[in-house]
Amino acid sequence: MSLGLRASSLLSAVVLLTPAASLGAQRAPNQNPFYQQLRGLLPGGEVISVKHLELHRDAATFTFAAGDIAFFGEVNGKVTGAVFKGEGHFHLTPPNAQERHSISVYNHADEYDEDFDQVVLRFTDGTAAELHKGSAGKGADGSAYAAAARDMQHYQRVKLQDNQDLRLLQDVLSPSQGGFFCATIHGKKNSHLIFTVDPYGAGDLAPEEVTLVNWNDWGPAFISSFPSRLAGPEPSGVRAPNEPFRIERENLDVTIEKGGLLSGLATLRLLAEQDGVAVVPLNLYATLRVSRVETDKGEALDFVQEKKDEDADFGVILAKPLMKGESTTLRVTYGGKDVVRNEGNDNYYPLARQSWYPNATRGLGNYATYQMLFRVPKGLQLIATGTRLSEKTEGKFTISEWKTDVPMAVIGFNLGRFTMKEAKVAGKLGDDLIIDAYANSNPPDSYAHLNAEDDLPIEGGSHVQEAAIGSINTASMLPVQLSQGEVAARIYTDYFGPLPFAKVALTQQFACNYGQSWPMLVYLPICGFLDQTQQHVMGLHPEDMYWKVVTPHEVAHQWWGQTVGFGSYRDQWMSEGFANTSASIFLQLTRPKPDDFREFWKEQRKLITEKNSMGFRPIDVGPVTMGFRLSSQKTGWNIYQNLVYPKGAYILHMIRMMMWSPKDGDARFIATMHDLLASYRLKAATTEDFKAVVEKHMSPGMDLDGNGKMDWFFNQYVYGTELPAYHFEAQVTPTGDGSSVHFKLTQSGVSDKFKMLAPIYLELAEGRTIRLGMVPLTGSTTIERTVPVPKLSSAVKKASIDYLYDVLSIDN
Ligand SMILES: [Zn+2]
Repeated sequence: MSLGLRASSLLSAVVLLTPAASLGAQRAPNQNPFYQQLRGLLPGGEVISVKHLELHRDAATFTFAAGDIAFFGEVNGKVTGAVFKGEGHFHLTPPNAQERHSISVYNHADEYDEDFDQVVLRFTDGTAAELHKGSAGKGADGSAYAAAARDMQHYQRVKLQDNQDLRLLQDVLSPSQGGFFCATIHGKKNSHLIFTVDPYGAGDLAPEEVTLVNWNDWGPAFISSFPSRLAGPEPSGVRAPNEPFRIERENLDVTIEKGGLLSGLATLRLLAEQDGVAVVPLNLYATLRVSRVETDKGEALDFVQEKKDEDADFGVILAKPLMKGESTTLRVTYGGKDVVRNEGNDNYYPLARQSWYPNATRGLGNYATYQMLFRVPKGLQLIATGTRLSEKTEGKFTISEWKTDVPMAVIGFNLGRFTMKEAKVAGKLGDDLIIDAYANSNPPDSYAHLNAEDDLPIEGGSHVQEAAIGSINTASMLPVQLSQGEVAARIYTDYFGPLPFAKVALTQQFACNYGQSWPMLVYLPICGFLDQTQQHVMGLHPEDMYWKVVTPHEVAHQWWGQTVGFGSYRDQWMSEGFANTSASIFLQLTRPKPDDFREFWKEQRKLITEKNSMGFRPIDVGPVTMGFRLSSQKTGWNIYQNLVYPKGAYILHMIRMMMWSPKDGDARFIATMHDLLASYRLKAATTEDFKAVVEKHMSPGMDLDGNGKMDWFFNQYVYGTELPAYHFEAQVTPTGDGSSVHFKLTQSGVSDKFKMLAPIYLELAEGRTIRLGMVPLTGSTTIERTVPVPKLSSAVKKASIDYLYDVLSIDN
């Protein structure tokens, strides 16, 4: 008798003895019998022999040239795995140019090939039947299949920390046909090449269903990822994710103790979006351990949560599968440490940013409403996303109640003892926006040494006097942060439209050099609250552009990221890029001269076009829509940061520059952004959604294809990797009543169809710069023109192109 069959017959006995849900009784994790069976499952059933058997899965072909296949036993009547041993070949033909380019970065060919001697398959689709059909007879028994499956299980659980059994359980318990397929290929070149087709989206690469990832000791290389053929012909990133369910409402009752221990009761209202939802996987930080899951009637439910440093994914097994449109309520009791860290002096650092409560969020596209009650040590202040309804002190605790007035993509909080200052941004319709800035009243322990009486050591072994530094009092910088936040909010309200929130809290966080934005709540780096002398002592460079834009960037995420959400990694460039472009507008409008603005764009260009230590220019690695996949061991880990942020910003900046007119200034751009904000208010926007809004507002001059479409621009800069080089020469000759500009402009380094509008500027003797006009160019070309210029307020000193870094390009 095979192991699988034995487990299966045992199981039917267990099932008969277990009622669907038992009132009141506590259930330990991982006790569901089907789950346990999947968890312990190894091949041991039938073994078949195969010869030249081809298995096609989407764009991939597995050729099992010669060898044997052993099957896993059934669970709930379904076979979920098989192990092939022998000789075979894997081939992937990616369906589009972007993915061919991605493969070529890793592979020196634009299709993927690998010879293998072993494949471990896990599936809920029709693979078992298909393999059986190709059987060439009985294969050889042996222990090697189980050993291979056990190795793969261990790798998946301990190294990848991904609970694949929980994913399989979703389909095994569902009355609907599953479509999951995962092959772990032991290749001649790579030992852990994993090809996955998952209709619910393949992990971080959702909503895309088809992925090829090569796992190495240092981590994953995301070789290819694309929508399945079944999902239809739409380009990547434009579809809403295929989610089996979503959370509509969540109530949280959370206690945070002085040491940082967090415990909570979450009540989730869940809506099935498809038929047959039997298992509900939820995000939850691994050190937060679930002690009980129950229905709103108090019936205990089975749940899954393995060890915290292994595949700790949390999932709930429903009492019965839901059909599309059906709702249910779950109550989850949980708690644990290492989620909020006490940094001393009443400074707390939330570590579990988006998983301190059970949720089903992927990216920033899943909006739900929340009600929250927080109990924190007496005297501490908790600032949450949402509106505070009440605050009181009871015994050892300060208790505050919060609710979201509008749906939010994610919720969070900051905790500490704060000093606060407030400002108001008056709205046109009387809907004022309140900006509150909070600094911790005392520095955390690790910053306290800056308060020492003694001389402080600084770089190079020299010492500075305490008197020269002053004591660390981050609250003294509060007015600066508040005014930056207030001015930024004023500018963004004008440029993009009003926020759907009544208040935004700017708060200090323990991390020195990065910020984060939540709906109505911003974390600013503590080092931004230090004065320049203190920043020097910390080894920071206060003159860096970073410190000028970090607050306006994070505030801008209230518009881009929180009000308009971006659901998938393909669209992440808009969140980060638009926040950067917004910060540049802040620099432009808050300075009398454009120096900081120009310096900002010069730096952005440098990030995008300079080779990193791995020899890659970020722009060449791939388009912005590849998101985090751009970074890898091969290409360098800084590519995401140095492409998605600056090039994402440049894309919007270029659109702004093309929309600008001497007569109306930014009016067209402002109308575009107001439309985008209003159309995707509290919803996720895709790259294609954004393109459609731009096309609605584009100027006649931008219509380079004469079809009312911006494909030319998006294909070059958003979905593509083109980078033009320009060479410009000009002579200015005074004439009777003005001047004459003769120029020669060369565009090179681009494909034949590459189109661009090159902006020509005149720098005047008085110091002002004006735009003379835009010249359309196609392909690698040189144009030469003489343009008469009317009399201006002062003489024309010089003609130039790209004065405001209008076009992402390099000089030639
Ligand atoms: Zn950001």
